[in-house]
Amino acid sequence: MNSMPEFTQPTNEPELAYAEGAVEWKQLQQHLSNREVVDIPAVIGGQKIYSDDVEELHAPHDRSRLLARIHRPTEGQVRQAIQSSLDVAADWASMPFADRAAIMHRAAAIISGRMRHRINAATMLGQSKTIDEAEPDSACELVDFLRFNTHNARHIRDSQPTSPRTAQNRTDWRPLEGFVYAVSPFNFTAIGTNLSCAPALMGNVVLWKPANRSTLANYIFFEALEQAGLPAGVINFVPGRATMVTDEVLASPHFAGLHFTGSSEVFSNLWKRVGSGIDKYRTFPRLVGETGGKDFVLAHPSADASEVAIALVRGAFGYQGQKCSAASRAYVPRSLWTKVSAQMKSILAELKVGDVADRSTYMGAVIDQNSYTKITTYLKAAKDDARVSVVAGGGFRDDPGFFIEPTVLKVEDPRHVLMCDELFGPVLTVFVYDDNEWTTLLPLIDSTSKYALTGSIFCTDRKALRQAQEVLVNAAGNLYLNDKPTGAIVGQQPFGGGRASGTNDKAGSWMNLLRWTSPRVVKETYAPPRSW
Ligand code: NAD
Repeated sequence: MNSMPEFTQPTNEPELAYAEGAVEWKQLQQHLSNREVVDIPAVIGGQKIYSDDVEELHAPHDRSRLLARIHRPTEGQVRQAIQSSLDVAADWASMPFADRAAIMHRAAAIISGRMRHRINAATMLGQSKTIDEAEPDSACELVDFLRFNTHNARHIRDSQPTSPRTAQNRTDWRPLEGFVYAVSPFNFTAIGTNLSCAPALMGNVVLWKPANRSTLANYIFFEALEQAGLPAGVINFVPGRATMVTDEVLASPHFAGLHFTGSSEVFSNLWKRVGSGIDKYRTFPRLVGETGGKDFVLAHPSADASEVAIALVRGAFGYQGQKCSAASRAYVPRSLWTKVSAQMKSILAELKVGDVADRSTYMGAVIDQNSYTKITTYLKAAKDDARVSVVAGGGFRDDPGFFIEPTVLKVEDPRHVLMCDELFGPVLTVFVYDDNEWTTLLPLIDSTSKYALTGSIFCTDRKALRQAQEVLVNAAGNLYLNDKPTGAIVGQQPFGGGRASGTNDKAGSWMNLLRWTSPRVVKETYAPPRSW
């Protein structure tokens, strides 16, 4: 009964192709065409709680299509969620690691198998992703997080201090004392899984508040967790209004950690609130946040123009640019610009924007009215700005959904606001530099934006490539050489950035898991001295 499985290094979940006509594509269609409206409750202590305070969830690319009704919990129910977690905390912490890990593996197996098409369809409809964007997220990355975390956590547990002949030293990898608040973003279904399950795997109890727009897919995953045998109350699913839930959480002396992914502004605000209320907490809460980006692609004159153009299109416009890692500012040498811009324009002319259920669509809609208004405000200003020229796209329409054309803008000023602000949409801004300005360009890239999440350098000159990596050492937590800056894979490129992009705790790696444990070191002396 006390044996410990190996939990060997997993391999990444293989992607299904979902080719038109394939069995998996047909099965997916059944879910996509299902018009049932899902009532999503809060799940607290294993109880499904419905309420009269309901918010409707529509498809961003088809605003008339109602997908779900989110039932908002009350303040009292949020407090109840905190209490129900605390009530089961000791039992969960003392459950053998092998059992906690088995629950995570069972949830992974359920998503990888029988729930795969359903959660992919929910991600497609709720978050407006094509299947080529949904499958790597809500199936593969989600499953990878669960499996790799188990493997990594096993290694943390195995890490023990040395002991001399006279004593035994050991580390107890305790969970934090209290509960963890997991706050997830809309853009990746998998992130909600990791934010809630990484602390839980380490023995913590968790209050999970999903983002509105991903609630449907997140709820399907929560059902998988329940079916996998997660005990009631260990993770409570609380799809409440963000400010209200946060007020209740931060008022609790048992608040022990924040596991957040979202915008830098919201994270900064949460950090300030925790700081100003620090005296009421029993422990110093752990604050882990992965936040925004203004990710660069830098092309050297030695780069191949075609490789640069394709990386820019894929890096900037996959999932409508709504990835924290999306290429959103590019630096292209004058000698390559004619070729790069011509190739981008010809690809973009073919790239289809529309209904994500159509297999030929490349881009769906942006997530909601707020996002649409924000991005189109920047586009309108860009069109009126003499220092900006529109290379491609620039159009938008909000019927039947929030559609924005893939847009390439060119600026004369490398510090233009379009090179600094995160727009979180399908807009790429390019600065064309003189080939001989490479050396002065590097510090400019480093200091242009407050973010430091991802970046990519296209260059075949090894000396220049090395120089760029050195000058840009703090400009990105994930740096890509001769590749687009998106598409990090769990176990291969642990993800996270510095500066305003977050605490860089590397989601999906042992570094993140370490934040959810508070080790106790125990020394036992075999023969204590009998004289002073
Ligand atoms: P967001 O900040 O609007 O929301 C994130 C979460 O915070 C949601 O659950 C939301 O309900 C909650 N929230 C919003 N206001 C709050 C408040 N006042 N108090 C407490 N919680 C609040 O972000 P989003 O639009 O869901 O996601 C997009 C952002 O996330 C982008 O900035 C993107 O770069 C970032 N992101 C970063 C990473 C990363 O790994 N670095 C990954 C994905 C997304």
